[in-house]
Amino acid sequence: MSSKAENVLSYFGKNTFNDAVMRDKLSKEVYKKLKANIQKGEKLLPEIANSVAHAMKEWALENGVTHFTHWFQPMTGLTAEKHDAFLEIEKNGDPIQRFDGDKLIQGEPDASSFPSGGMRATFEARGYTIWDTTSPAFIMEGPAGSTLCIPTVFISYNGEALDKKTPLLRSMRALNDSAKKLIKLFGRDVDQVTTTLGPEQEYFLIDQKFYDQRPDLVLAGRTLIGAEPPKGQEMEDHYFGSIKERALEFMQLSEKELYKLGIPAKTRHNEVAPHQFEIAPIFSEANLAADRNQQVMEVLKKVATRLNLAILMNEKPFAGVNGSGKHLNWSVVDSDGYNLLDPGHTPKENLQFLTVLVSVLHAVYKYSDILRASIASPGNDHRLGANEAPPAIISVFLGSALYDILESIEKGSDHVTEQKIIDLDLENLPTILQDNTDRNRTSPFAFTGNKFEFRALGSSASVSTPATILNSAVAESFEIISKEIESRMKKGSDVKDACIAVLKKYITETKPVCFNGDNYSADWVKEAEKRGLPNLKNTASSLPAYIAKKNVEMLTKFKIFTKEEIHSRYNIKLERYCNTIAIEYKTLKTMANTMIVPTAIDYQNILIGTVSGLKQLGIACDEQTKRLSTVSEHIESLSKALSKLDKKIEKAESEHDEQKKALFLTDSLIPVMNSIREHCDALEELVPDQDWPLPKYREMLFIM
Ligand code: ADP
Ligand code: MG
Repeated sequence: MSSKAENVLSYFGKNTFNDAVMRDKLSKEVYKKLKANIQKGEKLLPEIANSVAHAMKEWALENGVTHFTHWFQPMTGLTAEKHDAFLEIEKNGDPIQRFDGDKLIQGEPDASSFPSGGMRATFEARGYTIWDTTSPAFIMEGPAGSTLCIPTVFISYNGEALDKKTPLLRSMRALNDSAKKLIKLFGRDVDQVTTTLGPEQEYFLIDQKFYDQRPDLVLAGRTLIGAEPPKGQEMEDHYFGSIKERALEFMQLSEKELYKLGIPAKTRHNEVAPHQFEIAPIFSEANLAADRNQQVMEVLKKVATRLNLAILMNEKPFAGVNGSGKHLNWSVVDSDGYNLLDPGHTPKENLQFLTVLVSVLHAVYKYSDILRASIASPGNDHRLGANEAPPAIISVFLGSALYDILESIEKGSDHVTEQKIIDLDLENLPTILQDNTDRNRTSPFAFTGNKFEFRALGSSASVSTPATILNSAVAESFEIISKEIESRMKKGSDVKDACIAVLKKYITETKPVCFNGDNYSADWVKEAEKRGLPNLKNTASSLPAYIAKKNVEMLTKFKIFTKEEIHSRYNIKLERYCNTIAIEYKTLKTMANTMIVPTAIDYQNILIGTVSGLKQLGIACDEQTKRLSTVSEHIESLSKALSKLDKKIEKAESEHDEQKKALFLTDSLIPVMNSIREHCDALEELVPDQDWPLPKYREMLFIM
């Protein structure tokens, strides 16, 4: 292994059709037109598309590309690709490599094998992929050749969104529109307002040979049984610890691939649990960040395979140690480069900041139920609410300095604290905040200086849906709050007075969502209930928020989803939940029946032989008899639990109402799976180590 690395700048972005390549490969005129199109997000004219396609093909061929694909994000939460070769055969039989404008702009994959959540009847089997010019095309390197990937949206014949990108783009547009109006009240006209996202990705790495021997990891992505190891994360020696060489090699090779794709991976470190790590690229415009997070997950998987490592991105691969999340850092920036969540330097900027802040509070307060639903997944159910991850109650952490400022505004300027801002000069806001950069790791939605960090996302999730919901909700808040400020201004108030009056009202209304304390504490659960905040404990109970009246109204009003589109997402989420749990219970059942019970019975037989032999010889064997009883009791209880599971499965499979089924699985079937696990884990600690048919936690989490 060499410690010499090439200069990153010599290959950064080399696999993307980026600005430099466009400038190089396109005529000045085409370049200008394409850039204008990208900025406005408009569809390309055919003649421009042809020139761009030609240039893209030339560039791709120079880089060893043989195939192209429209790369999209169906509602599975993953990405989809169907490769086509550039190769074509001319009429005279000659081979030729061709790529036309129409193939660049639009594709027509058969949509019938992708989830549509009930929209299928209305759109036939046809679906269309359309180039999203705001995200650069990129080259995905393969073992023996490369593929040109064109990021696209995926829509039905009738224009319904069949993917996660389309609603995200719509929500960015909605936020842009309403943010521009808000900024205007403060005397500035900006061309554009963009959402920015910075996802931090957590994951586990384990040796591939362990992974291959665990049907639960292979099929369900998490261990369904496995006793806690003698050592877990209690020594707190992994977080930010020195990185094992094999993991470091993985990180460095991954980063190299990401740099080639123009993805600025910035941070890498050990996480809290053994063999758990994090990678965080520098944030970017939301749509690009969502695409990049998908690319990050794909690259990590590929590089892991190359190194005989298995990467686990399930939210809870191992019981008893921390699970993995994906913190979504979110902010809004205008085309003058001004971050709307940055307090600013002048009183007016400070006032705008406070207005934006209160708007976000309002959005999170009003739509906490669907924000909760947007991050719901079977894996995340094992994480949220455990003492490692934010609870399922959505609240906002502002820190005491900022919270005090809001309270002072609410109470009026005579309730002055020492801080000068309360005179509503608003002059000293940045200094006050600078000195108070406290952090709260237990909050699901925390203000961190100049952005919010939505910390409840699961590690395997696409960031698109939570970002879409958040953008849409904030777009509405911006609109409501700007309108009220505007109407006061029309009646003669200046912007400051109008703003303060409106903020006062909304601070009072939305204050219950603010919580600076320990979100893991039992007291908070009670307190949140008193405040009327929803506590949607699991996926099954949170999903109906998708179709709650107020949420559908908001999302349709801003044209983020049609009513059908939102129902389709609800249906898909339910169906995926039920399918995931079905895979888990089937896997658990097979493992218990074919691996654990037989192994335990073998040991039981040995003990029977020993005990009866000893008894015949008249040798005392009380303890060994006890051991036999314990093993026998676990085998018997395990077998009973398995029969009970069969009955529950039968009942679940005869339930055709998916919402009822999801609730039944959560409340009635999963507890039986848990009791099966308990007996298996107890047996793991009794049966001879050499006979145990599965790699153990102490191996998977400590040997690499
Ligand atoms: P920590 O783990 O301490 O919270 P990290 O450095 O791991 O912080 O991740 C912070 C993430 O937030 C990075 O991806 C960073 O680029 C991103 N970020 C910073 N500023 C913004 C912003 N204005 N909008 C969105 N994301 C941001
Ligand atoms: Mg981090």
